[in-house]
Amino acid sequence: MSLGISPICNHIITTMSQAETHTFQAEVKQVLDIVIHSLYTDREIFLRELISNASDALEKMRLKTLTEESVFQKDAELSIKITLDEEAGTITLTDTGIGMTKEELQENLGTIAHSGTKAFLNALKEKGDGNDSVIGQFGVGFYSAFMVAEKVEVLTRSWQEGEKGHKWTSDGAGSYTIEEADVENRGSTLVLHLKEDEKEYAQSFRVNGLIDKYSNFISFPLYVGDERKNTVEALWRKSKNDITDEQYTEFYKFTAGAQDEPRYTMHFSADAPLSINALLFVPTENQERFGTGPIQAGTSLYCRQVLIDDAPDGLLPEWLRFLKGVVDSEDLPLNISRESMQDSALVKKLNDVITKRFLKFLEREANKDAAAYNEFYTRFSRFLKEGVAMSHDHREQLCGLLRFPSTSTEGEDMTSFQEYIDRAPEDQEEIYYIVGNNRAGIEAGPYIEAFKEKGIEVAFFTDGIDEYVMENVMEVKGKKLVPANREGLDIGEVEESADALKGETAEKFSTWMSETLGESVGKVTVSSRLTSSPAAALLPADAPSPQVRMMLEQMGQPVPEVKASLEINPSHTLVTGLDKLRDSDPALANLVAKQMADSALLAAGMVENPTELLQRNQEVLERLVAGETN
Ligand code: ADP
Repeated sequence: MSLGISPICNHIITTMSQAETHTFQAEVKQVLDIVIHSLYTDREIFLRELISNASDALEKMRLKTLTEESVFQKDAELSIKITLDEEAGTITLTDTGIGMTKEELQENLGTIAHSGTKAFLNALKEKGDGNDSVIGQFGVGFYSAFMVAEKVEVLTRSWQEGEKGHKWTSDGAGSYTIEEADVENRGSTLVLHLKEDEKEYAQSFRVNGLIDKYSNFISFPLYVGDERKNTVEALWRKSKNDITDEQYTEFYKFTAGAQDEPRYTMHFSADAPLSINALLFVPTENQERFGTGPIQAGTSLYCRQVLIDDAPDGLLPEWLRFLKGVVDSEDLPLNISRESMQDSALVKKLNDVITKRFLKFLEREANKDAAAYNEFYTRFSRFLKEGVAMSHDHREQLCGLLRFPSTSTEGEDMTSFQEYIDRAPEDQEEIYYIVGNNRAGIEAGPYIEAFKEKGIEVAFFTDGIDEYVMENVMEVKGKKLVPANREGLDIGEVEESADALKGETAEKFSTWMSETLGESVGKVTVSSRLTSSPAAALLPADAPSPQVRMMLEQMGQPVPEVKASLEINPSHTLVTGLDKLRDSDPALANLVAKQMADSALLAAGMVENPTELLQRNQEVLERLVAGETN
């Protein structure tokens, strides 16, 4: 029976032995003062912190049973039990971990010698005291119990044979007592006497909810009452060889709350430069394709199987938001918070390592099974392209993952930059591409004629965002990326027909065209790149594309004035005929010249107001019909 604590005397007598009163180290007092008096809202994290401590103690115990000869209760199950007493308003956590001797109790729960709480104190010193956000940022391990409890008792017995049990008690006010106690089993039992307005933590639905959220994957059995809580294993910590496909699928469905099967599963562990266990899934479908708006990031961050954040900012790049799964790193402090996560150099490093690994993984999958990769690609290419546009660091790798049709593929088939390069002559320094609405449209247009004639491959990009994406890519694997619809490309001459306009005639013709067309186009030249079209409109090499111009306009930005230049095909019958017509019927020749130019501009997506073109069209038709009937 306790005789009570005398305020004057430090030592009290109990029936078992002496209960000693100790004062907390000054730094602990400071921590407790803040924990108890702060209005910090996220109090529920206390449970995560205590379960995590128990799990650590069990982990250490597992090691002891392997390395030590004599261990007290060597065969006891390594587990955590939580019991709730709503009436008494208590929550009790019992683990069969290493426990503590009297000295360890004093050292561990009376002083601050450990990393997490030290960092907390340092941050406090920087930010001034009593700051809510500081608790949020660091958590305070064991002492967080005092956020919800007015009194905490720790009953503990060390793993070492012959040690006695002890009881540590405190109300967090400045001192604690330690006394010898009858503790039957190895490990620690924490009894939290909940504050009046924190009694919800003695209710099983509340506690179960918190465990589901934070502690579902700890590696030891966790019971609430008699019920085993954590039935799904932390697969990411196991070896790949010990996991079946069914287990992966089950885990994916569980963590992602998904109904479908994973399309790809990437499981890897690394020790350097960081210790990482990651298990990431690509879902079957890309939900964003169904117009739901951007999906939420789906990769959770764990530290030693304890959840830190289920949607951490900055863990993965935004464009990998379709990935589901878990990243676990032992290098992170357990109580790193949302706010500090973004700035954390560690998280940045994690981000970099995992992103690289994932892109490498996709590369391997693409080589292994191209058909499966293409199926993935048709659904998820949007994300990779976002990555190309946004991420300088991973651009090279991402470009390698792009797929597209080209003049060398048929129908729906796709190819890659690597294949393009492999097919091209070794001395070709450029990769030519063109952005358009669809394959048929590009093939009907004037731009790839000369390339086809010369047997030079042109890649087709027909996705709405491709224009924007490709603007960001200067080169791939050392080859310069060049749009096929710009002026000044040197791909060699195309053979001209016998009656083609040549020399002075050609020059005179282009001068006449230029004068006739006036301000509507830039330069007019006779070209060597056209075979079946009479003319093509080309953008200056450095001009923004029509798609980019449209975007600027929609965003209310100033749109730079761009004039396309016109290239004329000297072999085309329309051109050779027109050259004759300008003497015999100057008025009609004028109409035809303008119509030819507008058609070329239309094909280039550069006609803003087609009314004039339509009117002129009508005029030409009228003259045609009049000519026939006269
Ligand atoms: P941290 O966990 O960051 O070290 P805590 O304040 O949570 O800080 O805990 C302080 C120390 O108390 C721990 O390092 C550990 O040695 C000891 N401890 C806490 N909980 C237990 C437990 N359930 N069993 C054994 N030792 C524990």
